[in-house]
Amino acid sequence: MTVTALFADRAANWARYEDVLHKAFAEKGLDVNLVRDTDAPENVDYVIYAPTGPISDFAPFTNLKAVLSLWAGVEKIEGNDSIKVPLCRMVDEGLSEGMREWVTGHILRHHLGMDAHILGQDGVWRNDVVPPLARSRTVGFLGLGELGLSCADAASKLGFQVKGWSRRLKTIEGIETFAGAEGLRDILTTSDIIVLLLPDTVETQNILDRDSLNLLPDGAFIINPGRGTLIDDSALLEALDSGKVAHATLDVFREEPLPEAHPYWAHPRVTVTPHIASETRPETASQTIAENIRRGEAGEPFIHVVDRTAGY
Ligand code: NAP
Repeated sequence: MTVTALFADRAANWARYEDVLHKAFAEKGLDVNLVRDTDAPENVDYVIYAPTGPISDFAPFTNLKAVLSLWAGVEKIEGNDSIKVPLCRMVDEGLSEGMREWVTGHILRHHLGMDAHILGQDGVWRNDVVPPLARSRTVGFLGLGELGLSCADAASKLGFQVKGWSRRLKTIEGIETFAGAEGLRDILTTSDIIVLLLPDTVETQNILDRDSLNLLPDGAFIINPGRGTLIDDSALLEALDSGKVAHATLDVFREEPLPEAHPYWAHPRVTVTPHIASETRPETASQTIAENIRRGEAGEPFIHVVDRTAGY
């Protein structure tokens, strides 16, 4: 039977997705009528969704079976009351791979003190500081989901002492795990480098505020590819000015693009990257979309369904 899937992302992404979606559908033996627009929303079975696309009201899609998000972060859609069907977020091996590489690169930059040699070479032979070994450094991950866990695993394989914090306590070989308020305190007080890979929910907003930043060891590094709302910006700027935090590498912000006048741009201890830590990769993401359509048609449970009570 033919199913109809509406591709509801911005036009520029259609060219990146059209062929690979068709290929992924064919590999699963699915007969999918993939459309970019429709006059008959009641005939649409699946919406392939991105917040940058044209749809925000799902009420006209009266026979919808699922909304399949192209984004991993769902804070812009999970509160949408017009969605009455399962909302599935993106888990994509290409997205995870990209995040692992970006996070590892920035961890190593700070761990090895690379800036000292890359920036401002002045002809002076300074060989008094040799980088420490990873085994002497603790990296703490707030968020141990698809992305956090993948990055934590990479850091552990490089030899770092790795700690991780999640909502529900996990047991993971090679990673010391924590949960709850006490767990957060433990991980913050002992991590030289903190990586934020939490979703934006009511509970995670301002998780790094004045009090929690004060718990960090002096001279800690912060890497945030999670969401801008995780950090109280004024408190972070104070911590950077005092040297409590040695450097913050920030990929995500409360307002994006980050306004030109924002103090982060000019701060010598801040690296701004423009929300490029990783992105959904069409080829691998199409396989996730196709698998969920296959499941929907086979009457099997969808994968990566958003828990709309928890907000992620
Ligand atoms: P995920 O699989 O849903 O993992 C989220 C993690 O956060 C889980 O470990 C979860 O705990 C934990 N968590 C949630 N609420 C918590 C709380 N209140 N206290 C403690 N831990 C909490 O998400 P993901 O796929 O790893 O993605 C994480 C985030 O990365 C996304 O939400 C998005 O904001 C961001 N992202 C950024 C980019 C970029 O380019 N910068 C790209 C993609 C995604 P449990 O394990 O117990 O559920």
